[in-house]
Amino acid sequence: MNFIKKFPPQIICKIEKIKSLLAPHTNRAYLVGGCVRDLFMDNAISDIDVEVYDLSEKRFQNLMEKLGASGVGKSFFVYKLDGVDFSLPRSEKKVGVGHKAFEVEIVKSEKLASKRRDFTMNALMINIFTGELLDFWGGVDSIYTKELRLIDENSFKEDSLRVLRAVQFCARFDLDVQSATKRVMKEISLQDLSSSRIFWELEKLFLATHLSKGFLVANELGVFEKLFDSEISMEAFDELCVVEKNFEKDMQAYYFLYIVANFSNKSVYEFAKTIDAPKHYLRVYRYQPFFKKIPSDKKLLEIAAELPISKWLGNYKPKVKLRAKELGIWENVFAGGVKIEDILKDGFRGKDIKIEYKKRVLNEINRRVDG
Ligand code: ATP
Ligand code: MG
Repeated sequence: MNFIKKFPPQIICKIEKIKSLLAPHTNRAYLVGGCVRDLFMDNAISDIDVEVYDLSEKRFQNLMEKLGASGVGKSFFVYKLDGVDFSLPRSEKKVGVGHKAFEVEIVKSEKLASKRRDFTMNALMINIFTGELLDFWGGVDSIYTKELRLIDENSFKEDSLRVLRAVQFCARFDLDVQSATKRVMKEISLQDLSSSRIFWELEKLFLATHLSKGFLVANELGVFEKLFDSEISMEAFDELCVVEKNFEKDMQAYYFLYIVANFSNKSVYEFAKTIDAPKHYLRVYRYQPFFKKIPSDKKLLEIAAELPISKWLGNYKPKVKLRAKELGIWENVFAGGVKIEDILKDGFRGKDIKIEYKKRVLNEINRRVDG
């Protein structure tokens, strides 16, 4: 069967271009990694990875440079051109400490090359010239059974990042982890990972559709203890199961940590700092009160004195959005008619202006709620 035909037309068009670039040089080149997995999962295809066979390092490097592709990292094995990653087939052997300490050897066998990949579903290959599918490790089966499975236990342990990749894949694609794979991952320490590496994997989790699944897997694998040195409450899981559909799209990245941290009585700001989250996370988390129950009007107004409810991460609770809209505080902060000019007229200056403003707004809230 020609699997190329199953891609959407704009991807087929890209593949045709890749074919014509590579045809004079080789007749073995494969689509690999996420784009093949996503084809079988019926997901939108984002990046395309192509593994090019039967070229020496030197010829591959010359060809890529002639095409105007740019090299990725220090090696000459991966090049980028128009959103496509081209690489040479290789096997990897761990030679030191850390996520990148690998010795790399160019190989000729597709099976050997596919063995360096993390999960069976990520090791599928489609020949760009013939459309033939290569599935050495049962990747298609793992997609249909929605079960994440590692390829090789010994080599898997060599890169701890794979544990975090597992968590975000489960959250994005609603997968469970096969029990043998889970057993291996539980034993992997995450200490060698830099916080930026951790953050970029976790952000894929924060943006995923099935956050509760991501939570469950992270918890089972001990990821929270390893990263945050903290026991996590299962109440957060119950909350996520119910509310993950209610999140506001433009705030999606921030809810997961907010819920996980608060249900464990921890500071979400501290959690975000632990994983070196970028500044916009810290800015959002600076003021985010938390209530287990649906907040009263008074509490909603108090929150809205600081930020519109559409920017408050507790806004997923039932009825909160509706009530905030009724109170006019969904898009706007609550000022209650208090004006800075009146405060100035009354003689307040410097820091006292802000303090007096806050006091008057809170008085106004009390007056409205009590009245
Ligand atoms: P995404 O949809 O997030 O891009 P992906 O699987 O394509 O998912 P990439 O980081 O783009 O992830 O990597 C492309 C492929 O390279 C993967 O499918 C996998 O086969 C391989 N790969 C990436 N990172 C690792 C790793 N840490 N260990 C083993 N294989 C990896
Ligand atoms: Mg990818």
